[in-house]
Amino acid sequence: MINIVLFGKPGAGKGTQAEFLKEKYNLTHLSTGDIFRYNIKNETELGKLAKTYMDNGDLVPDEVTIKMLQSEVEKNPESAGFLFDGFPRTIAQAQALDAFLVSKGEKITATVALEADDEILVARLLERGKTSGRTDDQDEEKIRNRYQEYNEKTAPLMGFYKEQDKFHAVNGIGSIAEITERLSTVIDNL
Ligand code: AMP
Repeated sequence: MINIVLFGKPGAGKGTQAEFLKEKYNLTHLSTGDIFRYNIKNETELGKLAKTYMDNGDLVPDEVTIKMLQSEVEKNPESAGFLFDGFPRTIAQAQALDAFLVSKGEKITATVALEADDEILVARLLERGKTSGRTDDQDEEKIRNRYQEYNEKTAPLMGFYKEQDKFHAVNGIGSIAEITERLSTVIDNL
């Protein structure tokens, strides 16, 4: 099994690249943001719980997110591997993921980060907000809050995975195909 964490700030292109990588490496793509949005759209209990946090650009509490992610993994027992997109986003989530995978005799193979400058990303998100319908992409203050959440809670994960020798970064600026190529080079050399 190969289990990849796709890492990067909001707007770095994780979702776009995941679409290519899941096909290329036959991975189950789990985007926690997409799963939350699906639940909000369908007005489930989980959706109601996550909505206020997401609308404000805050992270959804760990306990809720971890439980949801685990149940999504359990739904795919035949999977050849997972591509985690937007998860983990806190050290507690990363520790829970490690423990959960160990309990299944599995582990994270690698974390691959898409790197890009904040100002480019904020502009990209505001542009995406014009068509995505995502309210958290339409308001610069909410976007800045998402970056603050990232810097405070998610950035420490780089050290967490570096200590395990599992952190790889690629330049996230370029054409979609160029970036897929850079990510593939990393994955092919794992
Ligand atoms: P994304 O689509 O990955 O940009 O996520 C959109 C929003 O969903 C985030 O701003 C958070 O409110 C929530 N979210 C997604 N993934 C997580 C996570 N792993 N932990 C906490 N909140 C999350």
